[in-house]
Amino acid sequence: MDVAEFRRRGKEMVDYVADYLENIEQRQVCPDVEPGYLRSMIPTEAPLEPETYEDIIKDVERVIMPGITHWHNPYFYAYFPAASSFPAMLADMLCGAIGCIGFSWASSPACTELETVMLDWLGKMLHLPEDFIAGSHGQGGGVIQGTASEATLVALLAARCKAIRLVQASDPKRPEADITSKLVAYTSDQAHSSVERAGLIGGVMMKKIPTDDSYSVRAETLKKMLQEDKAAGLIPFYFCATLGTTPSCAFDHISELGPLCNTEKIWMHIDAAYAGSAFICPEFRHFLNGVEFADSFNFNPHKWLLVNFDCSAMWVKKRTDIIGAFKMDPLYLTHDNQESGLVTDYRHWQIPLGRRFRSLKLWFVFRMYGLTGLQAHIRKQVRLAKEFESLVRADKRFEVCAEVIMGLVCFRLKGSNELNEALLKKINRSRRIHLVPCQLSGRFVLRFAICARTTELRHIQKAWQHIMQLTHSVMEELPH
Ligand code: PLP
Repeated sequence: MDVAEFRRRGKEMVDYVADYLENIEQRQVCPDVEPGYLRSMIPTEAPLEPETYEDIIKDVERVIMPGITHWHNPYFYAYFPAASSFPAMLADMLCGAIGCIGFSWASSPACTELETVMLDWLGKMLHLPEDFIAGSHGQGGGVIQGTASEATLVALLAARCKAIRLVQASDPKRPEADITSKLVAYTSDQAHSSVERAGLIGGVMMKKIPTDDSYSVRAETLKKMLQEDKAAGLIPFYFCATLGTTPSCAFDHISELGPLCNTEKIWMHIDAAYAGSAFICPEFRHFLNGVEFADSFNFNPHKWLLVNFDCSAMWVKKRTDIIGAFKMDPLYLTHDNQESGLVTDYRHWQIPLGRRFRSLKLWFVFRMYGLTGLQAHIRKQVRLAKEFESLVRADKRFEVCAEVIMGLVCFRLKGSNELNEALLKKINRSRRIHLVPCQLSGRFVLRFAICARTTELRHIQKAWQHIMQLTHSVMEELPH
């Protein structure tokens, strides 16, 4: 493909994408395919000779689209949203064209510098404490990780390194392996599985803290666990709080947990993967009160802030904590400016070496929506969730299972888990809308998350009518 053809095909691709998104509602949300469907539709070997672009693009509709779950269909209500907007898509295209690998300042200065400034912009939108803002002389600052899972792991590894050094400062002969075997991390019993996984990867114990009736962690529960564990010779070192849990969007009480962690010298990381975007709205900011006690904070603009995957924003209060844990300087990566104290080399802040120019997406989105446009998006989706909640509450056969605070409604039929499982199966087999379940207090619950940017009230109403029809048939089939 030469540049002339690229110009032509690029314009065609933009049209294809615009048509796809404009007409996405006509596509079935979930595919009908069986596992392994694709293998038989394409050759078993890569082509020896070049093929034409026309042939490839034809295969997009023939091979790929039948196996796509359309996350941006307004009838998609599963998981949490995957953010998407036109400015972010265009920025991603530019990122692909520049194609730099920004592991150090020198490897592409704009890639590093825009990221630091965008994370400052975003931090200020959230009213993060000054400690987290890099500015030109700050001790803290932000970084874009690929996912919230990576941010949780990076924070845990940095905390582990800090804890080992702290113990060895007073007991220099104590072997690292002995200390590591006693380290213990904590998180809510409602935390995302990626937190438990961070413990597994980091080779440390991870204990789950029982939550209260609102599915939130309270300081007194953590305090009791810390006392017991310290008495047993363990070394508590890390607590991952959740703001906006995956099952029900519950919030840990960080303003009471933070001071406890600070007193106990435990690293507090905050995982606000989904809900964090809402903190740009003054009416939701209070959930973040207590962030001043945290060592690190993370949320995913790629979930709810109109920035396409991947873009997970993470801030640390002390950049030396994170750099100190991961720093490696082989000769081929060194550059003249690295000792000047003026540059950031983001490779020290993350697990991989390579990194894309992801901050372009933030820059385009922030400038084209403005803070008010982003707030309007969040508020609209919360309003839609409240509309759905009212529909559920108006039907006495159903119950709402957790307070609806943001864009997620947890609901179920009053009755057995079996009944609710049968309803969800029917919903997902119909393929017209898509939902996933969760467990709350041992009960099988349906989650209805407002996901697509283009979801409107009419979609919610239609989805509810559809659920009502299927409820009717499931209640005829099953005893309740
Ligand atoms: N934490 C929470 C609270 C989540 O809800 C999710 C995903 O939904 C994650 C972490 C994992 O996010 P990621 O895919 O960015 O790792």
